[in-house]
Amino acid sequence: MGSDDNKDYEDVCFLCHRTESKAGGMIHFQDKFGICHDCLQKTLDAVNVYNKNAGMKGSAPLQNDGDDSEKGKVNEGFDFFTMLGGNNPWDMMGMTNKNKVKKKSDTKKKESDKDVFDIKNIPAPHVIKRKLDEYVVGQDKAKKIISVGVYNHYKRVASMLRGDEVEIEKSNMLMLGPTGCGKTYLVKTLAKLLNVPLAITDATSLTEAGYIGDDIESVISKLLAAADNDVERAEHGIVFIDEIDKIAKKRTTNSRDVSGESVQQGMLKLLEGADVEVPVGATNKNAMVPMVTVNTTNILFICAGAFPDLEKIIKERLTKSSSMGFKAELKDKYDNDENILSKVSVEDLREFGMIPEFLGRLPVVFALNGLTLDMMIKILTEPKNAILRQYKKLLEMDEVELDFDEEALKVLAKKALDKKTGARALRSTLEEFMTDIMYEIPKDDNIGKVTITADYIDNKGIPIIEMRQAGKSIEHKDVL
Ligand code: ADP
Repeated sequence: MGSDDNKDYEDVCFLCHRTESKAGGMIHFQDKFGICHDCLQKTLDAVNVYNKNAGMKGSAPLQNDGDDSEKGKVNEGFDFFTMLGGNNPWDMMGMTNKNKVKKKSDTKKKESDKDVFDIKNIPAPHVIKRKLDEYVVGQDKAKKIISVGVYNHYKRVASMLRGDEVEIEKSNMLMLGPTGCGKTYLVKTLAKLLNVPLAITDATSLTEAGYIGDDIESVISKLLAAADNDVERAEHGIVFIDEIDKIAKKRTTNSRDVSGESVQQGMLKLLEGADVEVPVGATNKNAMVPMVTVNTTNILFICAGAFPDLEKIIKERLTKSSSMGFKAELKDKYDNDENILSKVSVEDLREFGMIPEFLGRLPVVFALNGLTLDMMIKILTEPKNAILRQYKKLLEMDEVELDFDEEALKVLAKKALDKKTGARALRSTLEEFMTDIMYEIPKDDNIGKVTITADYIDNKGIPIIEMRQAGKSIEHKDVL
């Protein structure tokens, strides 16, 4: 953080956790942390009483009304760090003065804030979608829904800043889709495009306050860190909670499973909008860490999960409703429907084990499709930062051209698809074959082009190597 940036941050009292704007100027100790005048006075008064009781040499209070010469004098016999066992607790915790929070902006800044959330400045849904298209393959419907959802969300923020009378409902989202189909990637890309802070967390690590694990509010403290401790930026950020299906109530057991349900309950306030006290510069609450209040009303929450077995519930519902009356359809009609998840209803999610209040706070529900072979090939080649492009770039720096046979791409995508971890398997599968190439090619300065063939990926052959034209080789150094 540069010194200029520091101007925008304010100290938090080490003892009472109030910010400088509330508690007044701070007295700094060893340039590490500050204590407000009230707390320092209280501490010194307490030490005074202690010293008197213990029969020690009296110490002068910070402000002695009767004697002006003593005014502002800190007792020489008293050392704050000695009282704390000779250690600077800040150092003991490995912390520096990063535990500052950004100042709440003044009215002038508020004006410019209004500009940022001026409706004209929020990219329209089709613009957001077009940008997402550059990175995320397929998932057209999901991209459309998320673009509209985000647009509405920031419209709502703008409307609240303007103080409009009609309150627009919050558009928190619930995303369904098999593992590795791009749920996290979509949200990460979105946050980057909109330049808003993003915190990603896993619902399985969340517990109710008081239990071992991260309590629910810790996610807000992650968001604050992602926003560089700027409370206002954090309050307009996005929180992504993955594996949300893991906190469903267990369905078939007779005994009530309270753990998942109570985490859902615990999240209700957060999703809707609440003031949350979070530690600054650390994820756990601790007496030594300053706290700050973050309001979650304008934070967009996006929950996601694979929801295994939800398909069965949807199928059951659909076949039940369609097996009655004239519209009776074949029982196995939905067995081969790959995109059955997109037919999900709130009723199905309730049946799965999500509580109604929780679902009520996630009004935008949509599904991502499982990846097909074609999509896998496109993921390899088309996005701006596609893996193949990255390998091509690396070899280009050795002035070697890298090419892939169409057939090789198909075999590669098929191998990755068989691993059933979605696009995540693409990189590891490709790496198996590329490591040798990346190792061998720079050995021979005369190589000008490498073509990866289907036989090579099938372990039945080798890649096609072409040499450079005479006199055009580049030289690699043999020694480090
Ligand atoms: P999940 O759905 O389990 O959250 P991720 O979004 O983490 O999956 O996807 C894993 C990786 O696979 C991403 O980092 C991204 O590189 C790639 N990926 C997945 N789906 C897509 C997609 N539709 N388009 C482009 N890349 C994708």
